[in-house]
Amino acid sequence: MTEDHINKKTSLTRMFTIKGHLEVRDNHLFIGGADTVELADTCGTPLYVTNEERVRENFRRFSGAFPGADIYYAAKANGSLAILRMLALEGAGADVFSGGELYMALLAGIPPSKILFNGNSKTDEELRMAVNTGVKVSVDSLDELHTLSGLAEEKERVVDIAFRVNPDVSPKTHPKISTGLRGSKFGIPASEVVHAYREAQELPGVRPAGIHCHIGSQILDLSPFTEMARKMMELVELVAGLGVKLDFIDLGSGLGVPYTKKENAPTPSDLAGAILPVFRERTEGLGIKPKLVLEPGRYIVADTTILLTRVNTVKRSSKNFVGVDAGFNLLIRPAMYESYHFVVAAGKAGDKPAGKYTIVGPICETGDVLAEDRDLPEIVKGDLIALLDAGAYGFSMSSQYNGRPRCAEVMVNNGSSEVIRKREGYDDLLANQRIPVRMLAAQER
Ligand SMILES: *Cc1c(COP(=O)(O)O)cnc(C)c1O
Repeated sequence: MTEDHINKKTSLTRMFTIKGHLEVRDNHLFIGGADTVELADTCGTPLYVTNEERVRENFRRFSGAFPGADIYYAAKANGSLAILRMLALEGAGADVFSGGELYMALLAGIPPSKILFNGNSKTDEELRMAVNTGVKVSVDSLDELHTLSGLAEEKERVVDIAFRVNPDVSPKTHPKISTGLRGSKFGIPASEVVHAYREAQELPGVRPAGIHCHIGSQILDLSPFTEMARKMMELVELVAGLGVKLDFIDLGSGLGVPYTKKENAPTPSDLAGAILPVFRERTEGLGIKPKLVLEPGRYIVADTTILLTRVNTVKRSSKNFVGVDAGFNLLIRPAMYESYHFVVAAGKAGDKPAGKYTIVGPICETGDVLAEDRDLPEIVKGDLIALLDAGAYGFSMSSQYNGRPRCAEVMVNNGSSEVIRKREGYDDLLANQRIPVRMLAAQER
């Protein structure tokens, strides 16, 4: 044990504890007052654990920074029904990107008037669903505009629409989560937006009621937000000039969170400071009073949830490999975005580091690495590993790859816990599969 290691003891715990949310008691990691070691024993692993109170706090912190604005939670970040339901009770709207997300948001009790249906490639069936349920649609192309107009007219309905604008702003984040660059598949180029509104004004079944953009995710720098707000307000002026009455201006989200704990992430208030002055100045200048809409996903849920996983094997090879029971089937962010999740040995959370360990999953892929070269206490078979900040784009991106049923999800509230999604079994791998009858009848050679 080097001096460096000893010094790390206190600083390590300080790096991940958040009072009332993530704490170390009796050397165990606690989340929302619940002992993770007990949770793993009673519910099994792998296990996603969400602290309900933290979701609520994050939502309130975000909405509190934007008085009078509507907050449409981006359901794709974590679409578990219990989370959608609790956010509905908090007054959240929803940003949905598929018929399935729309279905679940409505089921959770989010009012249609507070739902924006996004998507660059919606099916006619999805657009019909939007027409029938009365939600707003963010239209991504003129092609989609014409389809939607026709479908709404058939039903003798008028759908409130916004156009998704591609403002050509670099969010300075991972390329796979940059959505507002000129080369991105999302949105209508800023130069064609006026034309699109003009066209919408002429068409039946659609009413241009808002304007929308979203430039990316995990954005840690405020300047792209300000640049985006400026560009959007320029467009608002042009669109208002056409006589379009804009009820809402949706500036998306993408607010980053500090995964490495050293990252300096802006707060919702910082974000408000970057965009509210532009928004207020320009709307007042134009004498219009549109509602501001924001669509945070990651910020609301990322730090609320941990993924608990059990150690199957420890192997000394080129590295100290710790084989756990969760892989990129359950948390794909490290493999897909080279992202970092803080790791805690949940049953020995206060122990001093004893070496560097690389946490790998059970998937048959070299890229199935959850965390590399982490300072951890001595890890042995049976230990419990917690991957922090797994609430956004964690379970929602999970798969059954490699014949692995998805894990359970638990919600904790002041020390007590409830299963919000039960663990899948092998029968879930078979659901919907059929063997052609002729193969069943055939003789094995
Ligand atoms: C994903 C997405 C969001 C949420 O992004 P976060 O980075 O999770 O805040 C908001 N709006 C749209 C249109 C999205 O696609």
